[in-house]
Amino acid sequence: MSDSVSEYRLSPPDEAPPTLSCRDVVREYTRGSNSVFASSSDAPTVRALDSVSVSISTGEFVAIAGPSGSGKSTLLHLLAALDTPDSGDVSVAGTDVTSLSNRGRTRLRRDSIGIVFQHFHLLPSLAARSNVALPLVEHGVSKRARRERADELLEQVGLGDRTDHKPGELSGGEQQRVAIARALVADPAVLVADEPTGELDTETGQRVLDYVEQTATERAVVVATHDEHVIERADRVVRLRDGRVVNDG
Ligand code: ADP
Repeated sequence: MSDSVSEYRLSPPDEAPPTLSCRDVVREYTRGSNSVFASSSDAPTVRALDSVSVSISTGEFVAIAGPSGSGKSTLLHLLAALDTPDSGDVSVAGTDVTSLSNRGRTRLRRDSIGIVFQHFHLLPSLAARSNVALPLVEHGVSKRARRERADELLEQVGLGDRTDHKPGELSGGEQQRVAIARALVADPAVLVADEPTGELDTETGQRVLDYVEQTATERAVVVATHDEHVIERADRVVRLRDGRVVNDG
């Protein structure tokens, strides 16, 4: 065996860094800063996250669970690069979010993060196809290619026959699947969803979960939830209480 081969064999295997991670993040909110307090430094603060660390790899579907007020949405907003922590690090697809300007974060979200909200956030005046295609406008994709890609995604989520329907003509479950198709249209490395089944009945919620689960084979997926069905189907559950991780597994 040559020296170079034995050196190669003795080296530890390369471990891929997590696609999505935060380390020791703290996020505080100021309460009543515009009220009786002489300056914002006198106003009481609430520590929504206290030294939270989470790592999620491509291929993982992770649920963030915990009672109301435990910090789930705050953590999700940090992981989606919608917000930045007071201290600690957040990394998305190899980029340190805390080092970016607002514009840099917008670009990171456009290129690497799909976001799904509980209340869908679809544009009511646009058909399903146009809602799904919308993020591709910012990517400079031609109209024809946008249409083809949107139709492909809608087909995948079982809505190939609803492409011309506006959100008001779709059920809650259908609207949520349009929102998932929109979040995935630019093929992001990360999918972040805040209570995606919160407004849906059990059966419809399970269908939405089927799509979320399928898509996790190619990306890191993180879902904040109260829903036991989501928790059962996740690969891992990060449980928060009072802004701290109390269990991760
Ligand atoms: P969850 O999503 O688990 O319900 P949140 O992340 O929304 O929890 O909230 C965590 C804590 O931070 C709660 O005490 C909440 O009241 C507080 N909080 C959240 N957002 C704000 C805000 N914008 N201003 C002040 N306090 C906030």
